[in-house]
Amino acid sequence: MFHRAETIPVKVGNLTIGGSNEVIIQSMCTTKTADVKATVAEIHRLEEAGCQIVRVTVNNKEAAEAIKEIKKQISIPLVADIHFDYRLALLAIENGIDKVRINPGNIGRREKVEAVVKACKERGIPIRIGVNAGSLENHLLEKYGYPTPEAMVESALYHIGILEELDFHDIIVSLKASDVPMAIAAYTQAASAFRYPLHMGITEAGTLFSGTVKSAAGLGALLSMGLGSTIRISLSADPVEEVKVCRELLKSFGLITNAATLVSCPTCGRLDIDLFSIANEVEAYISKLKVPIKVSVLGCAVNGPGEAREADIGIAGARGEGMLFRYGEMIRKVPEAELLSELKKEIDIIVEHFERT
Ligand code: SF4
Repeated sequence: MFHRAETIPVKVGNLTIGGSNEVIIQSMCTTKTADVKATVAEIHRLEEAGCQIVRVTVNNKEAAEAIKEIKKQISIPLVADIHFDYRLALLAIENGIDKVRINPGNIGRREKVEAVVKACKERGIPIRIGVNAGSLENHLLEKYGYPTPEAMVESALYHIGILEELDFHDIIVSLKASDVPMAIAAYTQAASAFRYPLHMGITEAGTLFSGTVKSAAGLGALLSMGLGSTIRISLSADPVEEVKVCRELLKSFGLITNAATLVSCPTCGRLDIDLFSIANEVEAYISKLKVPIKVSVLGCAVNGPGEAREADIGIAGARGEGMLFRYGEMIRKVPEAELLSELKKEIDIIVEHFERT
């Protein structure tokens, strides 16, 4: 299997997907793309949350035309999601899109495919082939009977073949399924079949809670094998939540260098402080930080100090008070009412230090 770092690097705007250990975070707008104001506002929220590439649906001429104005107002690469209509792809390309998600085998006549590939080549725009277990080509369903990982990989190879025949190699491939074992098998087989970077996702994963668990199960398995150059979590929720989940998932594998991590205890009968609300507030406070610090929030002095020492900054609770630890040293005790504000002050100091050095 090709590790993500062994994949062919593909430029998308000012970013490179593949060819390194970095995993790029993506999401997709929920707005009507033609509504420039709403789309740009959503992209700004996504960007602030840590989204690095954003996709919009280009399902009509108005959407394709809106790309020009959207591009002027955002700073992360923009991807056009196109189904079948090559004219929309050409219009999106003309209006400055950074990547096109289209399956060449679905475009139709050869000259239409050639027109899209020529336009992409001229502007250095990559194409993402998006294989989906739910919409496999009829000839594959006839051959395999129903969606299988083998059928998905064969579909990817079919679309790749069309592009390679036209000497086009700026290709990224996704093989999404909502069935976790099927997605894992499809991605692992794909990583043995070709070196193009993989965009990973568990499609239609579900709501914020169930979709997060399902996505973490599938993508976690794949990330741990060294697969995936870019990911998207698909949730029936605000897309900002998708980005937050992506960041947490990448943090779990040490694949993100610009995010703060929270360690907090599950609590037990030894708890003497209101830990849940402190942990939630701290999590919200550090969620937008772009520095790799570790903050611990622990309930008591039994296990607390030991764990807090592992973190850059942390607290361990006691009856009506708490101990503040910085880089393993207890720096002071503070009353419970001031624990949160004192911890935030210490976090700010560490962040400032990171930003200076
Ligand atoms: Fe219980 Fe203390 Fe461990 Fe938290 S840190 S789970 S309160 S023993």
